[in-house]
Amino acid sequence: MALLMRTCKETAALLVAREDRALPMNDRLALRIHLLACKACPDFERQLLTMRQALKQWRNDKEVDPGIKND
Ligand SMILES: [Zn+2]
Repeated sequence: MALLMRTCKETAALLVAREDRALPMNDRLALRIHLLACKACPDFERQLLTMRQALKQWRNDKEVDPGIKND
């Protein structure tokens, strides 16, 4: 169990890394455990997710929009 303990700093790094690549099983587990136990990191995770959504939205807009406005 102690092996799965992460500091907030490590957790933040894992959350960011998770955006780019799949994490190994033990990291995913450690992440989950920390997010359950910590008050601050779930907020950070939410911010990351919001940011990712916004980015995705922006990318989709770019793909759909040919650069010509209809209005
Ligand atoms: Zn934390």
